[in-house]
Amino acid sequence: MTKDITTCKECKSEYFTETSKKESLCTNCAHYLYGQKRCFHIFTNERCAKCYWNGTVSERIAAMIKRNKKKLKKINTSIGIATFILIISLPTAIYWFVYLDTTVFSLTKHSFSRNVWFFMSVFGVLVSISFLIKANAFKKQLIKEVPYLKHN
Ligand SMILES: [Zn+2]
Ligand SMILES: [Zn+2]
Repeated sequence: MTKDITTCKECKSEYFTETSKKESLCTNCAHYLYGQKRCFHIFTNERCAKCYWNGTVSERIAAMIKRNKKKLKKINTSIGIATFILIISLPTAIYWFVYLDTTVFSLTKHSFSRNVWFFMSVFGVLVSISFLIKANAFKKQLIKEVPYLKHN
């Protein structure tokens, strides 16, 4: 039994026509461009035994992968920083709310630096939480748009 072979218009590699749902795109390109289910390639004699792809990655896709990985890394770093700020400011902020009566209305009783510390911690909690919500939504959206980021 011989399988139909087509040339991919993106990476110029030949592939078994039936392995890809996208016309004129190999499984690999269809995966990166359209999130089609990936082929877990098994290379024998320079080609994937399952989809016949030769391992070529087009410049466009290589650049796209690099760009999206960078984006994801940036988001993860920001989430890390925001989480750190939340962790260090939360205990003080909680303390601030527990002692609301004695602190808010009697700021003058306490040292200026202590009040600043309290305001900073409340500010830190509010800013980091709103940032985390936004960053996580952005990350979710990015992974939805480029599903391959999940398993890399
Ligand atoms: Zn291709
Ligand atoms: Zn394959």
